[in-house]
Amino acid sequence: MFENLQDRLGSILNGLTGRGALSEADVTAALREVRRALLEADVALEVVRSFTDKVREKAVGASVLKAIKPGQMVVKIVHDELVEMLGSEGVAIDLHAAAPVVIMMVGLQGSGKTTTTGKIAKRLTERDKKKVLMASLDTRRPAAQEQLRQLGVQTGVDTLPIIAGQSPTDIASRAVQAARLGGHDVVILDTAGRTHIDEPLMMEMAEIKKNAKPHEILLVADSLTGQDAVNLARNFDERVGITGLVLTRMDGDGRGGAALSMRAVTGKPIKLIGTGERMGELDEFHPRRIADRILG
Ligand code: GDP
Repeated sequence: MFENLQDRLGSILNGLTGRGALSEADVTAALREVRRALLEADVALEVVRSFTDKVREKAVGASVLKAIKPGQMVVKIVHDELVEMLGSEGVAIDLHAAAPVVIMMVGLQGSGKTTTTGKIAKRLTERDKKKVLMASLDTRRPAAQEQLRQLGVQTGVDTLPIIAGQSPTDIASRAVQAARLGGHDVVILDTAGRTHIDEPLMMEMAEIKKNAKPHEILLVADSLTGQDAVNLARNFDERVGITGLVLTRMDGDGRGGAALSMRAVTGKPIKLIGTGERMGELDEFHPRRIADRILG
């Protein structure tokens, strides 16, 4: 669909062989293409700016190695910088705390929060041999609680029995208590979402956090989120304080720019990615793969 960045840069820079170093003008021309590629990949504008500034610093005056073309060299600088900004791979969910370790899932409605709760519970049960309890704190949509209960049945993971009329914080306290009594290692709290960020949602998340003292707070976000990704991540991080990100729908044909945007504004690790609707479709995060995808 898009012309690959290497080809675009090649046509701008590859006439330069033999000049020794990249000039400011060469880099400016190249960065125009880099900026276009990042915007096409849905990286947020403010992140594109800080990213291209960093690349500029590294590229101006960099000597062009004889063995590679200048276009390839800039692509390499861009790729390396993307990988660095995207952060380390394989940052695991941190379970180093007294049992039951509480994991709180936050995010907008439809981001894949409940599905991801089920996937993480299944993974911790099967791979890490943990005894897990899941609880839905979504009191606004009774269907949400039922959805999680069904995922529990499907994955063979315990869910907290549903009691109508309880507040989200009451359910959270009951979940932690039930986990203690039931000998569970981990409790995953699937909180309610909204279609957009609003004050009541943030207050509810802060209240649950105060009450349940989660060890991990994972922001689940759709990888197809465009320019809003920055706003979303910044709000959840400033108001609730997240410990990591999970990006869903990486199986879609989006280019994954939201990964860079959210990582850049929060500095929090991308811990896992969702690659499909099924419970097994949860993967480790590989920054190189995402960098390749962003560059197209
Ligand atoms: P919630 O409102 O945030 O709890 O979102 P849900 O977990 O109910 O997910 C909303 C829809 O997205 C459902 O149809 C899920 O099957 C789907 N979904 C969740 N994660 C993924 C993913 O990684 N890939 C794809 N293709 N679909 C997903």
